[in-house]
Amino acid sequence: MAGTEVKVPDIGDFKEVEVIEVLVKPGDAVAKEQSLITLESGKATMEIPSPSEGKVSQIKVKVGDKVSKGSLILMLEGEAPVQTPKAPEASKPTSPAPSAGSDLECDVVVIGAGPGGYSAAFRAADLGMKTVLVERYPVLGGVCLNVGCIPSKALLHTAAIMDGARALASHGISFGEPKVDLAKLRDFKNKVVGKLTGGLASMAKMRKVTVMQGTATFLDKNRVQVDGKTLRFNYAIIAAGSQAAKLPFLPDDPRIVDSTGALELKSLPKKMLVIGGGIIGLEMGTVYSTLGARLDVVEMMDGLMLGADRDLVNVWQKFNAPRFDKVMLKTKTAKVEAAKDGLKVSFEGADPKTYDMILVSVGRVPNGKKIGADKAGVTVDERGFIKTDSQMRTNVANIFAIGDIAGNPMLAHKAVHEGHVAAEAASGMKSHFDARVVPSVAYTDPEIAWVGLTEDEAKKNGTAVGVAKFPWAASGRAIANGRDEGFTKLIFDAETHRVVGGGIVGTGAGDLISELALAVEMGADATDIGKTIHPHPTTSESVGMAAEVFEGVCTDLPPQRKK
Ligand SMILES: Cc1cc2nc3c(=O)[nH]c(=O)nc-3n(C[C@H](O)[C@H](O)[C@H](O)COP(=O)(O)OP(=O)(O)OC[C@H]3O[C@@H](n4cnc5c(N)ncnc54)[C@H](O)[C@@H]3O)c2cc1C
Repeated sequence: MAGTEVKVPDIGDFKEVEVIEVLVKPGDAVAKEQSLITLESGKATMEIPSPSEGKVSQIKVKVGDKVSKGSLILMLEGEAPVQTPKAPEASKPTSPAPSAGSDLECDVVVIGAGPGGYSAAFRAADLGMKTVLVERYPVLGGVCLNVGCIPSKALLHTAAIMDGARALASHGISFGEPKVDLAKLRDFKNKVVGKLTGGLASMAKMRKVTVMQGTATFLDKNRVQVDGKTLRFNYAIIAAGSQAAKLPFLPDDPRIVDSTGALELKSLPKKMLVIGGGIIGLEMGTVYSTLGARLDVVEMMDGLMLGADRDLVNVWQKFNAPRFDKVMLKTKTAKVEAAKDGLKVSFEGADPKTYDMILVSVGRVPNGKKIGADKAGVTVDERGFIKTDSQMRTNVANIFAIGDIAGNPMLAHKAVHEGHVAAEAASGMKSHFDARVVPSVAYTDPEIAWVGLTEDEAKKNGTAVGVAKFPWAASGRAIANGRDEGFTKLIFDAETHRVVGGGIVGTGAGDLISELALAVEMGADATDIGKTIHPHPTTSESVGMAAEVFEGVCTDLPPQRKK
């Protein structure tokens, strides 16, 4: 009888993953979906299921082998009657089993498959709970993977390389004007998204997380309805995210888009208005400007990217001044008229202007009011946020909320950590969300990143801090890169010299900020950071050097006054 080759399926981005366990032997009868081998990558442990039932004739891998998609695992002979059902579920209900009268039952239902939701679902499954992940769209990944963090970074990366290539003219290297093929760029961005979302679908399968497509609404505190089906749960984790805020007075016109529309890259405007000077608007503005649009930005408040210290933002603003025709602060958009020849915009406090495209990025609204939370008794505030305790538990003991819907800052990395906490708490662990800080990054050019207490907050609160800055104009690497406009700033508790926050503006600031986040979490002081040897020449040295500046021992700057 000819055997069937069983190969490693698509396991997302993982390659050369180690086999840590072979779960079957020659002669074994296996059921469809029964686990055959266990793989371990740096990120996760995953079991590879059998694609069909049959009898194992030969094993082609052993513990310690490295495998990737397509590697041969074993040979399977068909037609063998399978006596043993598939391995029993490892899950153990952690509260009384739900009663009958439902289409599906589970230990945990997770509503929404964004970074918060899929992380919660995967953690819950890893802890042995029978998990159902409900997502209204056919693709997993939520806002972040589909229409947020990832596609925007794919385009920002492209834009940064285009800008970098242009800047090389001053180094004596010229390429000429770039030709933009919008369809190909869109295709690249879509492929990036597809790679990640496809990887999530396989990881859900490997963990035996049941993915249900549909919109979930609560029926009571133990049941949700998903497009006509009733699902009973012991625990629910609400991870339904947020959506772009709208301005009610704007006309319905395809030239007026939110961030999702802007990411579709339908056309390239000559003249674009960004309404809202926050991170998302300025990131997308950067992309369109590099591709050829002239930008105006209008912001009601008195500054761009509020939340970050002004000295950081000033560096970005000076470097980016050539992108903008006008930056209108403390200015309200009053009216937009959609005419054939353009979008005619009136402002309160500035002259009217006509644009080819308007990007509306005026914040995000949590989806708390759209899930029937009241039926389960879950309290939702007037803005749509759901309040939780430090275990991410809502006012209803078996229901948790995480991610954007659970409060600011609306960031993917916060959602992921909260998701883990909620899943662990549901499984009975004593986990709490007790992170001291959540870093923020604007992936503009240069990037701006900050974490913990800002200098502006310290001033406002009257907190006694010491501030030390290392200018990148003294960083060998930044100078060699031709990008020495930035600086690194560390903020220390004035008494203990422990770092309590910091900010960085410069290329790659988003990657550099992690060291400061770790330092704050670990309670590091200026000496700990300054005495940590940073590799030379890197921009990461600026973190160590800023700490040395604080202690008055930096030798990469002119002599300082002794402390
Ligand atoms: C353009 C843009 C760029 C961004 N860039 C970054 C960045 O660089 N870094 C960063 O940290 N953050 C970034 N963010 C923010 C980030 O995307 C969010 O903080 C993150 O996605 C929140 O994750 P979440 O799991 O809470 O919810 P979401 O990602 O919003 O996912 C919620 C999911 O729930 C689903 N859902 C909602 N209601 C239901 C229901 N009733 N039933 C079933 N499913 C439902 C939705 O379809 C969605 O898939 C960006 C956002 C945007 C818009």
